[in-house]
Amino acid sequence: MVLETKAPRMWIDGQPASAVSGKEFAVVNPATEEELARVPEAGAEDVDRAVRAAHRAFEEGPWTRLRPRERARCLFRLADLIREHREPLALLEAQNVGKPIRDARDEVGMVADCFEYYAGAVTKLFGETIPTNAPGLDFTLREPIGVCALIVPWNFPLVIASWKVAPALAAGNAVVLKPASYTPLTALALGQLAQEAGLPPGVVNVVAGPGGTVGAELVRHPLVAKVAFTGETATGRAIMGLAAEGIKRVSLELGGKSPLIVFEDTDIDQVVESSLGVVYGNAGQDCCARSRAFVQREVYDAFCEAFAARSRRLRVGDPLDPETEMGPLISGAQRERVRGYVAVGQEEGARLLAGGGVPAGVGRGFYLDPAVFTDVTPAMRIAREEIFGPVLAVLPFTDEEPLIRAVNDSIYGLSGSIWTRDLGRALRVARRVQTGVLSINGSTSVHLEAPFGGYKQSGLGRELGMHALQLYTEVKNVHIALG
Ligand code: NDP
Repeated sequence: MVLETKAPRMWIDGQPASAVSGKEFAVVNPATEEELARVPEAGAEDVDRAVRAAHRAFEEGPWTRLRPRERARCLFRLADLIREHREPLALLEAQNVGKPIRDARDEVGMVADCFEYYAGAVTKLFGETIPTNAPGLDFTLREPIGVCALIVPWNFPLVIASWKVAPALAAGNAVVLKPASYTPLTALALGQLAQEAGLPPGVVNVVAGPGGTVGAELVRHPLVAKVAFTGETATGRAIMGLAAEGIKRVSLELGGKSPLIVFEDTDIDQVVESSLGVVYGNAGQDCCARSRAFVQREVYDAFCEAFAARSRRLRVGDPLDPETEMGPLISGAQRERVRGYVAVGQEEGARLLAGGGVPAGVGRGFYLDPAVFTDVTPAMRIAREEIFGPVLAVLPFTDEEPLIRAVNDSIYGLSGSIWTRDLGRALRVARRVQTGVLSINGSTSVHLEAPFGGYKQSGLGRELGMHALQLYTEVKNVHIALG
């Protein structure tokens, strides 16, 4: 099977589909600024077709009636197909997002693993028996919700799609996936692979087009029962509002301003090397990016110098070069937004120790040198707002109490890292930091098997692991009276 990458189409009711209007939009490679592909631009009629197809598949089709093991087999086949197409998918993601090819390969591997994990979960989804006061047998059933609208952003297009599509299908739902307009290509490819894997028509539909129209239509559609969204906090708020009318189930993964906490008893070189990927990975366009570092006064200067030195050596360049550590940002507008924050940081009185400008000699591509700010105070905008670019703000701290207050003084609460050799201190701080995900003496935020999501305005609900299945099921309680 050859993946259709040059003229990809949407997937509706098991068929490749153009927009009813015939409209298309261009997808651009952020490293070259050239057109990568043209993609159908859905309108309200296409959304309606996709939702109705999903609804038919859910209500009438074989999907919900398949035995668990058969449903699991479909998902295992899809995982295998993703692995077989790892190279073209990684190439597509690297070209479309501008992420280094080696990262894109890892991500496609994670996507296959995710489908495999939830294929395994199909046969492990069960309810409880409950000792009620009334005589009888009381038990719960975990049932699929129906048509799920899955709306995803441009930073990890295929990974985040898999976090939603895989558990939704494992639980027996039918889905309509809407990728971000910057990066629809791998989601459309996933639509093709889902048909090839033998999923019944209408179980996986993929529509592309602007969030403000196509996304909003999807959320509003009366046959959509559940909305799962990843993106900006402001968009999440708007989606909650749209979903309120039908009291739809909503889960949200939103923005972040995650802390990197470094105590004085740590090996600074180890922290710097480990943290590089979570500060500058995906050019800092990562909801879990550790974009504010809190470093204990005793090692503050050493940390800032070491981090800035390593940042200056970061290999910024062509995403397809296997040596590249950081590619371009997603768009010219995003680069301007990040440069705006670099200017704000300087105006606020922070010291720009490294980067922040367009790399010398770059003609095309939305590249930016990774930036490190020191002498940052908690009130500064660069310490409070999500920049979504390769910018680190480093703040000093002295004691635990003021540290915890400063860390928690944020509307966000997604991720974070704590570095110290004192395990008691690590656990004390971990208990009090208000984020959904934390790593101690490491940098990984995401484990397929463990819950992922945010406190406060970073989200609602938990993705991944068996927790995610709660987002895609209703609980039914049944009582058999034995009086
Ligand atoms: P957006 O919120 O702008 O867009 C996300 C998706 O929503 C896109 O598919 C977009 O379509 C669509 N959309 C936009 N407006 C609406 C609307 N009114 N109704 C329905 N859908 C809509 O986010 P970005 O794509 O800019 O992604 C970056 C943001 O995502 C950052 O804030 C980041 O922190 C967050 N994020 C959070 C993660 C988490 O797990 N917590 C993970 C990854 C990112 P279109 O592209 O056409 O505009």
